[in-house]
Amino acid sequence: MSTVRVCHLYPNELNIYADRGNIAVLRRRLEWRGHELSVVDAEIGDQIPDDADMYYLGGGQDRDQIIVAGDLAQTKAEALHRAAAGGSVVLAVCGGYQLAGHGYTGVDGTRMPGIGLLDADTVAGTTRLIGDVVISVDVGGTPVTVVGFENHAGRTTLGGASAPFGTVRHGHGNNDIDGTEGAITGRVIGTYLHGPLLPKNPQLADMLLGWALEHATGGPVALAPLDDALEMQAHRAAIARVTERRSA
Ligand code: GLN
Repeated sequence: MSTVRVCHLYPNELNIYADRGNIAVLRRRLEWRGHELSVVDAEIGDQIPDDADMYYLGGGQDRDQIIVAGDLAQTKAEALHRAAAGGSVVLAVCGGYQLAGHGYTGVDGTRMPGIGLLDADTVAGTTRLIGDVVISVDVGGTPVTVVGFENHAGRTTLGGASAPFGTVRHGHGNNDIDGTEGAITGRVIGTYLHGPLLPKNPQLADMLLGWALEHATGGPVALAPLDDALEMQAHRAAIARVTERRSA
């Protein structure tokens, strides 16, 4: 049995898109395989470890992001960079994704610093990009469909050091222009998809758990297959919803 240690950043401020649902999925999928999850919450002012197996940064409204951005840059960025260099997984969703990049200029023009874990920069537009999203993601060399919901004003542009996390098949993605969604550098992933992200995307959840277990144990860990019938039913329903709307 192994324990995966997750550091959940700002659960009080960055939590508006059922972010705890992502943590719950990670916990259950580990427990079903005889492993366990331990979660350390880190709030404003808290120092964080630089060797957690995974870091989670959720979504927030601009006013929540303004509250945490300075603290993230001042008290947590260095540890996060060391962790990422050491193979820890970082999953940053929506507002958290924007702050994992170089920064975010919000709707009122406030510039929030980012921590540059991802080569991405975000500026709010005058409209919000809202709706169901379907993207194609490379999971261990296999193209996998990932579904979710997006609701953001930010338009994100990627630099050369991060690849897009996915390719948009339906929805807006990073900026509604270039067909990219999210960003990935090594094991650091940023994405606009929430709702939350992991319950309807079990293959993605297992990719993250595989990485985290590898970090925890020092070597590859085979994950026993699970019965994902319900999860995949929800996944297919999300795809059907956008397909039906498109043909209506
Ligand atoms: N406040 C940010 C935006 O509107 C992020 C929103 C979010 O986390 N969903 O772009």
